[in-house]
Amino acid sequence: MSEGSPVVRCPVCGTLNKVKTGRDLEQARCGQCHASLTGAVAANSHAPSAPVTVTDADFSERVIHSSLPVLVDFWAPWCGPCRQVAPVLEELAEKYRGRLIVAKLNVDENGYTASEFRVASIPTLILIKDGNELNRMVGAESPARIEQFLSMVV
Ligand SMILES: [Zn+2]
Repeated sequence: MSEGSPVVRCPVCGTLNKVKTGRDLEQARCGQCHASLTGAVAANSHAPSAPVTVTDADFSERVIHSSLPVLVDFWAPWCGPCRQVAPVLEELAEKYRGRLIVAKLNVDENGYTASEFRVASIPTLILIKDGNELNRMVGAESPARIEQFLSMVV
């Protein structure tokens, strides 16, 4: 995927479309069903391209009720393997912008959510879609394994 060609999901049929930035945006149409992609492109331009910080206070709003799937990184500043995973998550947030939210939750400061999800060791990556846990990965895995873990939603 070249830079400047965001991928947006067609709101009608769900097909992923590559859209050129610039003047084409206003006429952007789904390659599959020809529905207008203008709204989806606008939503995409607000999608974060870096991991976002979530807390006990906004977890429900930003993760459980997210319209996009969310990968939540349960981490803490003192955790060495968490620091290993952090740059991988930054890359994934950028790569899957508009298709996936990458969120980070500090377990030391947000014990309620960590215990709700029975997070016993960190890093733990939990994939949540439509409020449901789809899958989790415990420990610092390779970038390839983490990306494979996401393949069910992106
Ligand atoms: Zn379509």
